[in-house]
Amino acid sequence: MTQYCMVIDLQKCVGCGICAIACKTENNTQDRTLEQSFNWADFVFVEKGKFPDMQYAIYPVLCNHCSNPPCVVVCPVYPKSMYKMENGITMHNEERCIGCQSCQDACPYSERAIDRAFHGYSVISFNDTEPNAFYKDDTKLLPGITSSGKEVSEAAGELPPHKTLFEHPDYNPVREFGTVEKCNFCHHRLKENKIPTCVEACPADARIFGDRHDPESDVSHLLITHEARRMRNNRADFLAPDQRGHLPNVFYINDYMLPERIKEEDDNFRKNRT
Ligand code: SF4
Ligand code: SF4
Repeated sequence: MTQYCMVIDLQKCVGCGICAIACKTENNTQDRTLEQSFNWADFVFVEKGKFPDMQYAIYPVLCNHCSNPPCVVVCPVYPKSMYKMENGITMHNEERCIGCQSCQDACPYSERAIDRAFHGYSVISFNDTEPNAFYKDDTKLLPGITSSGKEVSEAAGELPPHKTLFEHPDYNPVREFGTVEKCNFCHHRLKENKIPTCVEACPADARIFGDRHDPESDVSHLLITHEARRMRNNRADFLAPDQRGHLPNVFYINDYMLPERIKEEDDNFRKNRT
């Protein structure tokens, strides 16, 4: 049976953010609000050391489409709004969602309110305010010089103005107030034999997508030939090689900061024991 996954090659990723922009455009996600990111493709930034002896890394992050997902377990509606598809995708059905945010509480990569001070992000976002309010607002940043969000959306004839139209039985091109949303590996594109838009847009080919149950796939080849790590939380901490977590299906390879970070984790572990 198919098990879709993504491998992210950290030596190829230059942190340009094009994957995130492509995702926002493809999936019509809102701008960030105070506590919700609406970035289905996001980043975690990690700094180590003191200038000039410093290391800096950027980790692209997204829903891990876990094989044992707590977000699905806790979803209280029946049939579940958050559910697993046969191809391994953790899918969200917008119509059944009651907006209880239990999935945000249960997912180790999500938070109800993002704590930016810790470089956190949230895989799941909640539409807690009127969606796309910016594009309904007639306030101009520089009156007489710039256009308002409302003028831009009216001129484009769409809300948001960059709206990509697609059809899917589970989710709409733009989500409703009071529901959650997250990455779905661009399932509407997979159905048309296309790859997720973040993978297609990446200029460095740092994102590789495919079926890890197919031994001939690129992802299978990479997972056999590289030491792959999976994330443990939304602070860019990794699961140890012998830890399973919730069996995430996003893998990171070629992490040049890994030896330093493993050493630091070992030191902390030893410090906490003494
Ligand atoms: Fe669910 Fe979070 Fe895992 Fe995605 S990363 S499948 S939202 S638990
Ligand atoms: Fe399920 Fe929606 Fe509640 Fe999440 S917010 S647990 S998807 S009903």
